[in-house]
Amino acid sequence: MDPAQNLAQIKDRIKGAALKAGRSPDDVTLVAISKFHGHDRIEPVLAAGQKVFGENRVQEAQGKWPPLVEAYPDVELHLVGPLQTNKVKDAVRLFDAIHSLDRERLARKLAQELSEQEKSLALFIEVNTGEEEQKAGIVPSDADAFVRLCREELKLPIQGLMCIPPVNENPAPHFALLRKIAQRNGLAGLSMGMTSDFETAIELGATHVRVGTAIFGERPPPENNV
Ligand SMILES: *Cc1c(COP(=O)(O)O)cnc(C)c1O
Repeated sequence: MDPAQNLAQIKDRIKGAALKAGRSPDDVTLVAISKFHGHDRIEPVLAAGQKVFGENRVQEAQGKWPPLVEAYPDVELHLVGPLQTNKVKDAVRLFDAIHSLDRERLARKLAQELSEQEKSLALFIEVNTGEEEQKAGIVPSDADAFVRLCREELKLPIQGLMCIPPVNENPAPHFALLRKIAQRNGLAGLSMGMTSDFETAIELGATHVRVGTAIFGERPPPENNV
């Protein structure tokens, strides 16, 4: 288990997938998803030069990242998991990007908090491309109106869209749908693709791939349920 070596391999695969799709590898940002992992696995990846990391819980990130950010000041932290409105203040303070903007109440709260903290960060609207009952995200038929609300009324810095395709389906049609919605709304960012499907996502236009297991190994069980 060598996370730095895994990182190098994933970067090679990203490069290969981008070139195969006729894209520049520089147009694909690798977000290394370090959730549930401790400093022992994260440090070697930082030392290897990785700058963009993703976490899925505000509280966990608050607990483990401040000393790492101090040691590696140009690290960029992305929140990729669900965000409760009572954690928005902390999230805006800690993160540089949020990939899980999935409802109006959260959009309004983010607008308020960004203005209070006089901060800007990159936001991705999560789209529930599979229209799954249990999954967060805006359903595709509401996406255009939601993008408009966020940009025009709330003046939020929307960088793009994000999706997590249903587990047991071919992800390609979901990635293609996300791209189509982004294109017709003039959004450049596409956060899509994880360990099992990031090459397909790159082929279909991903600008941000969120890879955890292939870099850090299997995740230990979370330490608590907060
Ligand atoms: C955990 C997680 C990932 C990383 O998944 P892997 O399969 O381990 O690469 C990506 N995106 C989100 C939203 C996640 O929660």
